[in-house]
Amino acid sequence: MNRFEFISSLISLPLLNFCSNEKYAAEILIGKGNPNLVGKDHRLLPEVEKAYQNMERAARAAGIKVKVVSSYRSYEKQKAIWNRKFNAFKKEGLDGLQIINKIIEYSTIPGTSRHHWGTEIDMIDNNPLAEGDVLLTEKFHDGGPYEKLRIWMDKNAQNFGFIRPYTLDKERSGFYYEPWHYSFSEISKPMLKSYLKLDIVELLKDDSLLGSEMLDA
Ligand SMILES: [Zn+2]
Repeated sequence: MNRFEFISSLISLPLLNFCSNEKYAAEILIGKGNPNLVGKDHRLLPEVEKAYQNMERAARAAGIKVKVVSSYRSYEKQKAIWNRKFNAFKKEGLDGLQIINKIIEYSTIPGTSRHHWGTEIDMIDNNPLAEGDVLLTEKFHDGGPYEKLRIWMDKNAQNFGFIRPYTLDKERSGFYYEPWHYSFSEISKPMLKSYLKLDIVELLKDDSLLGSEMLDA
C-alpha cells in the first residue's frame, strides 16, 4: 500500500459507513448518482457489460445479432422523456391524472426506473429488419422478427446472469410483460432490496417534474 492508498483508505471507509448501512446509496438507486459506466453504444456497470459481451458473443454464434436499444438512463434523462410526453398529452387535451396514467403505461416515473441502475438492457435482434416501433410484444412472438432472439434468451440468458423481470406471470404486479427487458440479477436483486427501503415519495419531490404534485398520493 502506498501513501496515497493508505490515506484514501482512512478517508473513504468511515465516510461510506457514515452515509448509509445499505450497500447502494439512494442517489445511485434513483438515477441521481454518478455510477462508473462502460460500453460502446450503451452504458452499463462494468460487471454487467462483461456478462453482456459474453452473452452477445454466444448469441452471435447462434446467428443472432443482439442490439441494445436501451441501457442506463439517468434521472435527468427520464425526466426529459416524462416531461416531453406530459406536454404532448396535454396538447391532446388530457388532464393531469389522465396524462399520468397514459405515460405510465410504458414509461416510469423518474427515479423509479430499473434503467437507473446500470444493470438493465432492452434488446432486439438486429438481423431481421423490423419496421416502426421495435419494442412491441408481438415482434417477440408468433413468427415475429425477434422470436428467435426470445427463444434463445429463454434458454440461455440465465447462464450469463440475466433474467427477465417483467414476465408473463399473472401473479406479478406492476409493469406489463416486456420480452425485451433483461436484468443482471446478481447486482439488480440487492439493488431492488435497497431501493424498496427508500422513502421514495420524499426523495422524488421535484418541482420541475410536470404533474409531480399528483404523484404524492
Ligand atoms: Zn427496459
